[in-house]
Amino acid sequence: MQCIVNRRDQFSAISRYWLPELSEIENLQKFGAYSKFPGHGHNYVLFISMLGEIDEYGMVLNLSDVKHVIKREITGQLDFSYLNDVWTEFQPTLPSTENIARVIWQRLAPHLPLVRVQLFENPQLWADYRGEGKQADLTIRTHFSAAHRLAPNLSAEKYGKYTNTHGHNYHLEVTVEGEIDSRTGMVVNVAALNQVVEDYVVKIFDHSCLNDDIPYFADIVPTTENIARYISNLLESPIDELGVKLSNVKLFESHQLWADYTGNDMQGYLNISTHFSSAHRLAHPDLSLPENTEIYGKCARINGHGHNYQLELTVKGEIDPSTGMVIDLGALNQVITDYIVEPFDYTFLNKDIPFFAKVVPTAENIALYISNTLRSPIQELGAKLYKVKLVESPNNACEIYITD
Ligand SMILES: [Zn+2]
Ligand SMILES: [Zn+2]
Repeated sequence: MQCIVNRRDQFSAISRYWLPELSEIENLQKFGAYSKFPGHGHNYVLFISMLGEIDEYGMVLNLSDVKHVIKREITGQLDFSYLNDVWTEFQPTLPSTENIARVIWQRLAPHLPLVRVQLFENPQLWADYRGEGKQADLTIRTHFSAAHRLAPNLSAEKYGKYTNTHGHNYHLEVTVEGEIDSRTGMVVNVAALNQVVEDYVVKIFDHSCLNDDIPYFADIVPTTENIARYISNLLESPIDELGVKLSNVKLFESHQLWADYTGNDMQGYLNISTHFSSAHRLAHPDLSLPENTEIYGKCARINGHGHNYQLELTVKGEIDPSTGMVIDLGALNQVITDYIVEPFDYTFLNKDIPFFAKVVPTAENIALYISNTLRSPIQELGAKLYKVKLVESPNNACEIYITD
């Protein structure tokens, strides 16, 4: 089974967006405060995603080797550097976040089985690069506060307090895809993109009651899925006019619940985050302690250690026209509790879960077990388990995409 493993790292660096062929005024118009002398800095956060088969030791790659490669090839060179000068790639093309992500990909690709390089300039702005020539994704994050109720036509008997008017701090992530400009390094003017999202969404949605103030939701239930879909419809053409394509709208109702909409008719994705606290020990039952220590390091210590595992599940389905949902949320939560959280929480996985008596409970194998366990019960609820992401620590996470 194939699995994606993610490794987090970070670096702090200075850069300046300034093109010598432009006048001072033109640089200021194009890049705003980013053009100021001598430059500005960020604490960049980097996520490197790699794909492979889970091996007999329960790993796609040895993450301690991965860590050293990333430090040697990337963060060790970029940390506390002046980006415009540190690598020659940043002379023809400015070190924009998307271009840094692309160059990091080019430098790491000979060493690691990459599928994605994700680089955060700050928590509100990041780029994704997947090795597709000049093509990159840029995401901005913003928020609005709004009231809503699950209405019309949903019974208080089934949906309870959710049919009362209540409110959320919604967080909105808008992703666009486009080509990295060979001189500015940018796929889009970020200030213009922020302005579009502000004008078409935030100004209208913030401090409103969605059911009463937005005519679209007079007859359509403002579930997270439907709000994401409507926002996508509002943004599609103004974002086209910026010369890029809207590729995803991600809307968080809370840290535990969010929806993705990728512009595909009634198809939506619902995400749930939950957690369990478990102990584990990484050791192959057929190997000696020195051999296991060689492979798993400290994780092989005989009495085990533990994590707060954060589990994110993505379910894909058609948005039901009457309920506005891709799946019955209450039933989904019950399935996750019954099959995973209740059996896993406050246990020693190796000893308490029979499956892990012989199979090493690495994050990859735990994610695989969860995908196999939840697939059919979710199918029975009329949707499809699309992705399981298990975050073992802030630096390590793995993802399994469920295929047919
Ligand atoms: Zn709500
Ligand atoms: Zn561990």
